[in-house]
Amino acid sequence: MIERREEWLELILNSLPDHVFILDKNGYYVDSYGGNYYSECFNAKSYVGLQLEEVISASKAAELQAHIDQVITTKQTLVVRYSLAKQEHLLLTMEELQNSGLPDESWFEAIITYLAPTLEHPEQVMWSVRNVTQTHLLEKQLKKLSETDELTGVLNRRAFLLELERTLEQSNSSVCLMIDIDHFKQINDMIGHLSGDEVIKHVAQVCQAQIRSSDYIGRLGGEEFGVILSNTNAIQAFDVAERIRLSVNSTACSVDGHEIYPTVSIGVAEYDSEVSSAKSLLINADKAMYYSKRTGRDQVTLYHDGLPDLKISASAKTRILKVS
Ligand code: GH3
Ligand code: MG
Ligand code: MG
Repeated sequence: MIERREEWLELILNSLPDHVFILDKNGYYVDSYGGNYYSECFNAKSYVGLQLEEVISASKAAELQAHIDQVITTKQTLVVRYSLAKQEHLLLTMEELQNSGLPDESWFEAIITYLAPTLEHPEQVMWSVRNVTQTHLLEKQLKKLSETDELTGVLNRRAFLLELERTLEQSNSSVCLMIDIDHFKQINDMIGHLSGDEVIKHVAQVCQAQIRSSDYIGRLGGEEFGVILSNTNAIQAFDVAERIRLSVNSTACSVDGHEIYPTVSIGVAEYDSEVSSAKSLLINADKAMYYSKRTGRDQVTLYHDGLPDLKISASAKTRILKVS
């Protein structure tokens, strides 16, 4: 039976589902409450009197200390998300770690609040922290799904365009390639739409294998791909495009008993002072790609100012009727 209010408050604090730590400005654990929701192997009460770097790795302790410094300086509440690798929990023995059931990396979300000074601790914060590993992994998975083209596994159009904008903001020596499979309607007609999908997948893989892991490839439409090469000049990009072209036309795609050697037409456009936006860079790459198409296919064209706009003359074949 609880009679004193102090005991009652203590009970409430210790029943809190999230861990609540009181930390002073030097990163010492002054108090520890709650954490009732988690059946973790570590006893957070034992942190009291220790400093951050005695509980977690030095680099992580420095990261968390910076948040404490910020809250003490600004007196503003801060919400942060951080990860802790299994081996960064210093108080756990190897055996405890092995039996802990902890994932290799756990994610936490902390709300750090400035606390009014006390005589003993003039500057301290309240660090209320929740384990958000499941949510974090789910968010990561959803983000990946929302950015990925389902058929080929490369970036989808929306993610590719965002990546292009981001790359151009960060580096002005970037090049964009536009790649379109040649005579794809014939391929579809020959082997069927579903097998045609396999050819699209195959070309995506062959292109991906020719670029660095820091470059990006995205599916812009049916059988059309874009590639972003950062820190690359036009000559180097032309070589990469040639490598892609040769690799595509020399790698067989086996599908449904057919052996297909698709070819691609590629346009290369460089981001320079004349090109002011991602959109105009794409338009230039598209023009160069169409030039490759209209002058023979299975080739690479580097965009330049004098390149004739063959796309316009080619579209004359399409009748567009005005419906009133
Ligand atoms: P070109 O050499 O001029 O590029 O000729 P093309 O036949 O490839 O012509 P175009 O690029 O204009 O047409 C692409 C065709 O790709 C049109 C459409 O039927 C087909 N296609 C578009 N999306 C898909 C898809 O997701 N799967 C399959 N199998 N076919 C698609
Ligand atoms: Mg095509
Ligand atoms: Mg096309």
